[in-house]
Amino acid sequence: MPFALARNPVIEELLKKYRAIWALNHSMAVLGWDTETHMPELGASWRGAASGQLALMVQKATVDLGSLVGRAEKLRDLDDEEKGMVRLLRRELDVFTKIPPKLVEERERITTEATVVWRKARKNSDFKLFEPHLEKILALTRKIADCLGYTGHPYNAMLNLYEEGFTVRDADAVFSLLVPGTKRMFEKVSVAGVYPPKHPLESAKYDINAMVRVNKGVLQMLEMPMDRFRMDVSTHPFTVGIAPDDVRITTRYEGINFKSTLFSTIHESGHALYALQLDKKFRFTPLAEGASVGLHESQSRFWENVVGRSRDFSKLINPLLKKNLPFVSRYSTEQLYLYFNTVRRSLIRVDADELTYNLHIALRYDLEKKMLNGDVKASELPAVWNDTSKEYLGLKPKNDAEGVLQDVHWSGGGLGYFPTYSLGNVVLGMIWHKMGDGELVRKSVGKGDLMQLRKWLQVNIHRWGAVYSPKELQMRIFGESYNPERLLKYYETKFLA
Ligand SMILES: [Zn+2]
Repeated sequence: MPFALARNPVIEELLKKYRAIWALNHSMAVLGWDTETHMPELGASWRGAASGQLALMVQKATVDLGSLVGRAEKLRDLDDEEKGMVRLLRRELDVFTKIPPKLVEERERITTEATVVWRKARKNSDFKLFEPHLEKILALTRKIADCLGYTGHPYNAMLNLYEEGFTVRDADAVFSLLVPGTKRMFEKVSVAGVYPPKHPLESAKYDINAMVRVNKGVLQMLEMPMDRFRMDVSTHPFTVGIAPDDVRITTRYEGINFKSTLFSTIHESGHALYALQLDKKFRFTPLAEGASVGLHESQSRFWENVVGRSRDFSKLINPLLKKNLPFVSRYSTEQLYLYFNTVRRSLIRVDADELTYNLHIALRYDLEKKMLNGDVKASELPAVWNDTSKEYLGLKPKNDAEGVLQDVHWSGGGLGYFPTYSLGNVVLGMIWHKMGDGELVRKSVGKGDLMQLRKWLQVNIHRWGAVYSPKELQMRIFGESYNPERLLKYYETKFLA
């Protein structure tokens, strides 16, 4: 297949060379998928060795593009797509060239060990075990931030890795509205008593084969193209875009509380649609990606929450559920809707409902910021976590396992990632607003025609790939960026109207 995009000879040469990087990334994506779905346990160290070599090859091939990228940056008459490619390659180059190999090797060693220890620490609910490792990770992260460079807060360097151009100032602006707004709304929702804190269906056991049929039925409703897409099972659900015509998701079956696998399937399908609906002319280029982690998350959460947890969807999916899960017949569509939307205070982020979820993220954002500039030391973290948890969530963990040790992210050095979950929610609110305060969702889900929504997302978001930075893309679509007021309005309309 020829390149669709190269108009300038320097860009053409860049793209020609980039094809090797594309092929390596393609191979690593397949290996990564296999690692999580089919590989026998003892294959892990061999897979690690192979992936490590491939990653080094990607790094070398990218660094080799350095002078060409430098030349391309001096060109004057590039169009938006060409500019986007050069911008994205510069971002990659920065990561590979600014962090010295010794530090990369150190990060690999420290985080591999920390992840093993974190598992044990969480199991024994013993933060003391993990503390020295977290101390090392914080020192390492500060060094990495220094290498990458930043203005203002060191956290800015880390945020920029996941959400291009997103800063502490942006995050403060989001959370300073989101936290009090959500807290106020949660109090009102609790007093109104419509949305229950618990539902009997949460403890209903299901037959896994029956639930597989439900999930497949959902994929049909979403009109997922089964010749370009597949679904498998893994411990932690994920999506991987291997090629424009090869996008895969996974889900998992716990055998109880079927909304967990149902919404996980819808969530990952949202990520998959982003990958499936990119403009195909971006093939073999760095543009064939979502605009950012936050933008990607806006897609998964839009389908999971705005569509999946709506009254109209509860009605739409009811026959499919009743046909496969006989115990659902005892419940009305309204009951099903309330089961999908229990609202309660909780300590565990991954179990949190749509409304209180952002409070869990705000807590982590707050602590990451303080840890990175030294305001909170690793040894002080459990106490600070517990106090902040009380302040944000109204609950104090009884032990570290249900508090500071619950997430894997920090052991892997992923500071800066958490806020993207809330950015996904914030952008979802903006999409909802742009769709006529949800009018398009009601119309299309009401008719069972989800293709209308898919087309809207394709035209407005997906087809642009990574041509524009996430902020610029939002400005083009919405005329504003990361505005949390839209999300609060969405919550209010859903939970209090
Ligand atoms: Zn996701």
